[in-house]
Amino acid sequence: MLAVRILGCSGSYAAAGGACTGYLVQSTGTNVWLDCGPGTLANLQEFAALADLDAIVLTHAHPDHWLELPIIANALEWYEPRDRLPVYSNAHMFAEARELIGQSISTVFDWQIVDTTETVTIGDQQWRFDETDHYVPTFATRIDAEGSSLVFSSDTGPSFSLQGFVDRAGPIDMALLESTFLDRVGNEGILHLSATEAGEMAAEAGVTRLVLTHQAPREERPAHVDAARAVFGGDVALAEVGGQYAAAGD
Ligand SMILES: [Zn+2]
Repeated sequence: MLAVRILGCSGSYAAAGGACTGYLVQSTGTNVWLDCGPGTLANLQEFAALADLDAIVLTHAHPDHWLELPIIANALEWYEPRDRLPVYSNAHMFAEARELIGQSISTVFDWQIVDTTETVTIGDQQWRFDETDHYVPTFATRIDAEGSSLVFSSDTGPSFSLQGFVDRAGPIDMALLESTFLDRVGNEGILHLSATEAGEMAAEAGVTRLVLTHQAPREERPAHVDAARAVFGGDVALAEVGGQYAAAGD
């Protein structure tokens, strides 16, 4: 079963008791940590040990999506030694991380820069990437395993489309999409999605299930579900820390 465990789903900064962006993408025998925002290491350990991870995938170099990484490096270097942990990202993300972490980045991580033309195999999962509409180079990603598929938008403005993923690898079962704010009105020009835009993006790509994530802490989260349901006829859920969402057939 391909599924996502939510390690953190707050947008920009963590809500009380929450954590910034982070997900554990799990299939049979494969565990990939997708974005490691501040606060997500504590929650990861509820579900997997660092030794159990097959890789980390980072979508972009905004602090709320990766700044647990220096802490992870410390844990691996001093307390939980293991084989070098593979990390996949774009070149911009790697440059930012190397600047902050320094030499130990190559001691504890086996870093691989990837681009949107590649399909990366991690265990039994196939990972694909596409460039979103955001302030720094940012990957959306599609994961296929065990006959199911899911996409994660990471951060994006509304001009991004999931159609590229559909064209490359077929229908998408579940979309984990950001909805940072409820309404575009008052947020003109900001390169994030409203709840309505997330619903429209899911509808246009013909996905079966939509999970909304990355709400800023003061958002009325249930209202995001209502707004997405108004434009998307499939199943809509809110990401909740600790929750697990199967791509299909749960
Ligand atoms: Zn961002």
